[in-house]
This record gives sequence, structure tokens and C-alpha cells, in this order.
Amino acid sequence: MILTYKFRIYLTKEQEEKLNKHFGCARFVYNFFLNYSSIMYKKMNISTNYNNWACVLVRLKKTDKYAWLNEVNSQSLQQSLKDLECAFKNFFKKQAKHPKFKKKKNRQTFRVPQHIQLYMKEENPKYGYIFVPKFKEGIKVRVHRTLPDTFKIKNVTFEKTTTNKYYVSIVMEVPHVQITNTSNDVLGIDLGIKDTITLSNGEKYNLPDLKKYEKRLKRLHRQLSKKQKGSRNREKTRIRLARYIEKINNVKNDWIHKITHKIVSESQVGKIVVEDLNIKGMLKSEKLAKYIHWQSWNKFIVILNYKAKRNGIELIKADRFYASSQRCSVCGYVNKEVKNLNIRKWVCPVCGTEHDRDINAAINLTNYVLSQEKVGQELSEIKPVDHALAAERKVNSSVTMG
Ligand SMILES: [Zn+2]
Repeated sequence: MILTYKFRIYLTKEQEEKLNKHFGCARFVYNFFLNYSSIMYKKMNISTNYNNWACVLVRLKKTDKYAWLNEVNSQSLQQSLKDLECAFKNFFKKQAKHPKFKKKKNRQTFRVPQHIQLYMKEENPKYGYIFVPKFKEGIKVRVHRTLPDTFKIKNVTFEKTTTNKYYVSIVMEVPHVQITNTSNDVLGIDLGIKDTITLSNGEKYNLPDLKKYEKRLKRLHRQLSKKQKGSRNREKTRIRLARYIEKINNVKNDWIHKITHKIVSESQVGKIVVEDLNIKGMLKSEKLAKYIHWQSWNKFIVILNYKAKRNGIELIKADRFYASSQRCSVCGYVNKEVKNLNIRKWVCPVCGTEHDRDINAAINLTNYVLSQEKVGQELSEIKPVDHALAAERKVNSSVTMG
């Protein structure tokens, strides 16, 4: 089983310099080969890949011009190339936009894949030291979560946030603990178009109100745009804005952690089913607000998935068009009059059941799983049963979701 722990790190001046050198070199290599591959493709019609880039990188490092690349861990530079390759693969699979140049002002990272050691301070287990190549002394780590008894470190990623804080994410392999979950119950979760999630057991949760931060956020953006580029005042404002964004994200993430924990620990089910979010559709959407909202649900699913796994619960993603709010979860009748999003409650004209729009949609998700005889299907195999309905929902949702 793979676990990731993210800890704050505290650096000496010397270490900070060295770390920043690594961020810079990793970014340079990424950008260099992004540019390289597009030129090779456009001018020479040659597709290049990781192997070509790695060979060129070795030769670059032997030239005087790029000799400074030798000052950092060569494996971290190779990891940058791997990341670039991965970005291209996602792009070709239409799961992401074309790779973009990394900017110095954004969050900075680099990964160390090997030769990592972590020692805990015996007198104070809240702190430890992490040792990686090219760093003479261990980097001080604030270990705010208890580590597993036995683990093997697979890799670590160092990060500098836009607010100039430093972190390390430690990816470790721990012995798999088999949790037996014998429950046959299924919980459906309807992810709202705005900010509510609804469980098939009737519970509803609202994302914390992020609108109240908007005003100050806009003001900070405006202030920043007025400051002269390169000035100290601009840097001060930039950090103030980045801290504010960090704060908003913390509010959101705390909420996601709290709710996913509650769902996983209290629901006592064997399976949880959610809608598969439409990534391709979202990439096309130009509206930032929608994209941010989509990001929240995406993060919610990622965190729910790993917490569920740890508790022996299987997370199933059903085709998003299945979670129809138009289908009666009792008799299956599709009531087209419920299309309008403003209709929150309706009565099924066939069986007479009273429905809450979102709870009904969440129950439809559980029905879907229960009606499947094959257990543990891959999400790609799951197809909408009623294609006509799916198509209609598509039209419906394109109106409401862009
Ligand atoms: Zn009905």
C-alpha cells in the first residue's frame, strides 16, 4: 500500500540556496525540453520522447554553457523529463491541456527518486531529518503525523509554495493490512452542480461559503496589478495575495477532509458510488468559477477514494449521466418534467413516491450498483443504461453547466 505524508521543512541558509537551485534546474530542464520537442516536431517533423531528451541532457551537461546543471542531483533532472513525458501522454489521451512552460512565480517542485533516508530525533519525535543526495546535512522536518511502524520510502518531492513555505511529500510503501469489510450496503453520493453533496441516506452537506472571500480576493488582485513590476511593494502584495489564496484553499481542504472522514467512518457500507466527473467537458469550459468548483469535487473524490480504500470500502464511479434526477428511484419512471433545476421536490406520477431531487439522484446511484451482477467493475465499463436519457441529460446539463 502506498501512502503519502506531507511535512513542513525548515532550512538553513545554505540548504535554502541549494533547494532553490534544484527548483530552478528542474524547471529549466522541463521548459528546455518542452521547447525542444515542439521545435523538433514543427521544424523537422520528429516526435521526441524521454529517451531522446535524456541523451541530449547528458550532452548539455558536458558543455560549458550548461555546466551549472551538474550542481544538482541528476536524478531529479531526469524526473523532470519524466514529468514532461507524462504531461504529453495525458495531452495525447485528451485528459489534459498541452504542457505549458513552468513559471518561476508559481509553486516550485522537484522530485528525488532514490537514496533517501529519514531519521527521527529520539528525544523529540516531532522532528526528524531527511537526507537526500547533494545535501551534506539532513533537512529538518516537522513530523506532525505519526509515521507507520515499518515503511520503505519510494520517493520524495520538495515543494516551495507561492507564499515561500517549504514542504516535503514523502511517498512510502507500507505493508498491506487487509481490512475485511463484509457489508453489502451501498452508499450513493450526488455531487451538486453548486456546492452541496447529498448522500443516499438523506444527509446533505454544504461546502463552506467561499463567496465571502471574493471581495477581498478581487481587491488584492487589483492592488497587485497597480504595483510596478519588479518593485518590492509588488512582491509584498504578491505574497499577501498568495497567502490569502492559501487560506481559502485550507478552508476548502479542511472541509473535504472532515466530510470524507465522516462518510467513510460512519456509513458502514461496502461500496460507495459517485458520478464520474466529466473531465473533457470541463477542460473545454472557459468559465473559471465552474472549473474551480469542478476542482473541489475532483479533490473530494480523490480523498474519499484513498480513505475508503484504507477502510476496505470500494469506490465506484458511475457514468455521470446515470445519476439522473429525472428517474424515479422506486419504480424507474423517467419524469421529464423534473428537468428544470429549480424543481427541488417532485411526486412520481406513476408510483406516487415523493422525491427530494438530490436524494433521489443519490439513490439512483446505489440502485445502479445493486443492479449490477458483476462486482468490482472498472469504471470505464460502466455505461449508461438508457442512452436516450443520457443524451437528454447531456443537453440539459450543457444548458446549466456550460
Ligand atoms: Zn415512481
